Formats: sequence, C-alpha cells, structure tokens
Amino acid sequence: MPKRENTLSWDEYFMGLAHLSALRSKDPHTQVGACIVDANKRVVSVGYNGFPKGCSDDVFPWEREGDVLHSKYAFVVHAELNAILNAPRPVSGCTLYVSLFPCNECAKAIIQSGIRRIVYESDKYADTDTTKASKEMLAAAGVELKRLDHTVRLRVEKIPNPEQD
Ligand SMILES: [Zn+2]
Repeated sequence: MPKRENTLSWDEYFMGLAHLSALRSKDPHTQVGACIVDANKRVVSVGYNGFPKGCSDDVFPWEREGDVLHSKYAFVVHAELNAILNAPRPVSGCTLYVSLFPCNECAKAIIQSGIRRIVYESDKYADTDTTKASKEMLAAAGVELKRLDHTVRLRVEKIPNPEQD
C-alpha cells in the first residue's frame, strides 16, 4: 500500500498549532495564536493573546472602545510576545508562526529575541501605521517574511475522527 500523500506540510502543521493555541484566547473579538519552531523543526514555544499572569479575564476589560483604562489595549499580551516569554530556552534563529501579522511592539520583541523568520496568514491591518512600522523594522533587521494562505484553517476543521474511520 502506498503511503498517505495528503498530509500536512511543515508550514501547515506549525500554523495549525498556532491556530489551536489561539482557541485558548478569551478575547471576544480576536483570537491570535503563535508557535515558535527551531531549525530542527522542534516546537520551542506556543502562545495566544491574553492578560498577564494574575490579571483575571473576569476583571480586566476586553473592550475595544473607550479610554485606556477601560479597553484591552493597555493590558493584553499578544500571542507572539507570550510565545517568546513562555519559551524555555533562547529562540534565537527560530521561526515564528502566527495567524495575524505582528504589530510594531511584537516586531521589536521578535527582532530582539533573535527570531529570523516569520510565517503568517492574515494581514488585515496592513494599512495601519503600526503594521507599517512593524514591516519597516522587520525589513531593516533582515527578518524573513512568508505569507501562508488560509488552507490550514480548513484542514484543522477537518481533523479526522478515528471513531468514524
Ligand atoms: Zn503585537
């Protein structure tokens, strides 16, 4: 019998892990996931957007509107930064998989941590100044960028059920 051919590529696999991590996020509007992988294709870390440790999801605001103290922007740790901070060892030379193009603040952390490559899917904030700033810094720092299409999401939704095989 020939081997199975329609399996996930490495890029789809690691982006799939990023999507799975995103499902942990309590953010009612935007669930973002990230996965950091080393040169030997070993997963080093994962992360999703959420409040810092000790800052309760039930106390801190998830609002997008209103003043700084009552909106999520002052408090949320983005998926990419959480993945970097969660890593049990240095991520220098690693690839970051993330479902949404990193913002300028995450770009700073990505560059400073030594991550050399970003694989992303959505770039829905491409027209914002913060995303433009992010791309400017990543280009200057020589971080390689690769965009994946959304096929991974479809595949993840079709996880085979062994009971029905
Ligand atoms: Zn960010």
